[in-house]
Amino acid sequence: MQKTFIIIGIISLLALSFLTLASDYERCNNFFDGPYIFEKNDERVAYWVCNKSVKSKKYKYQPNSLITLDQRSVWLGNKPAKKSLQTSFKGDFNVAAVSDIHGQFDLFLSLLKNNQIVDENGHWNFGTGHFVITGDVFDRGAKVTETLWYLYQLEQQAKVAGGKVHLLLGNHEVMVLNGDLRYLNEKYVASSLSLNKSYDSLFSKNSILGDWLRSRPVLVKVNDMLFAHGGFHPDLATNNWSLNKINSIFTDNLVKSELNQERNEQANYLHTSNGPVWYRGYFKDDGATEKQINQLLKYFNIAHLIVGHTSQDIIQTRFDGKVIAIDASMKNGHYGEILLKISGEFYRGTLSGKKLMLDI
Ligand code: ZN
Repeated sequence: MQKTFIIIGIISLLALSFLTLASDYERCNNFFDGPYIFEKNDERVAYWVCNKSVKSKKYKYQPNSLITLDQRSVWLGNKPAKKSLQTSFKGDFNVAAVSDIHGQFDLFLSLLKNNQIVDENGHWNFGTGHFVITGDVFDRGAKVTETLWYLYQLEQQAKVAGGKVHLLLGNHEVMVLNGDLRYLNEKYVASSLSLNKSYDSLFSKNSILGDWLRSRPVLVKVNDMLFAHGGFHPDLATNNWSLNKINSIFTDNLVKSELNQERNEQANYLHTSNGPVWYRGYFKDDGATEKQINQLLKYFNIAHLIVGHTSQDIIQTRFDGKVIAIDASMKNGHYGEILLKISGEFYRGTLSGKKLMLDI
């Protein structure tokens, strides 16, 4: 009798270890999302979803640490810099810019590799260059988390090389952080159900990515180019608005539920349809006039306004190149382009890596 129990016990153990091996072998290939990492004092807790089951891991933060979750590694680098007040950068370096990635991570990575912004392993290869992403990483596509962690890492690699990644906020970052989840890919609906948390709370202030996003700017001036997701309304070309002021009022009023008081008139203006993440006036017949564009260029002391948000098939110019529209519809998952300014010349970098002169 006792022997039978022992044999049954051994068989059960074998079966159990086989099942464990089998699930290890699956490596979450049916469904993987995360990690969402939360910080409390010196401790961090990572949550991720593997084939619909929630897993977690506690660890102590160490600079340049790497954590492995179900055989996927996330490099945590150093603690991200707090909100930078610098909105202008000048220098003799190359510049690249993309917009509206919308969760199309694979396409985005191919675009960067084929245009040598990163190497074959996806590591920074742009030297002292500045790489601007004019917002809308979130929503629509199914690889938002991958894109965010990748940019988080790339930013730190660029810094080491003397270059710079500027991730600007788009309307979809602002929407998600404020709990407007209308455009979520179904994957993130499933993920947040499994985690039993609302999607926006996965990017709360005490999460690594949420904290990082809250320190991102809404605009950046790089040499004679001014970047924002939507654009700059001509009203902003008055003496009352400086780039620093637009950026600080916008970012200080980013998440409504975290404010001590209602957004004031200026903050409201910047967060609604004529503000920098929503404005579409460079692409409308009744929008900005040539004269107003010239005023904007003069006021901000720039030669080009570079924006995403209003989708085109390819990178296009308006007003003789004074406006450059860089959202080349990566969101559709088939094609994308990258704007390059190499040794003073503008190019459209195509998905296959061709450099085509931009007509300016
Ligand atoms: Zn947008």
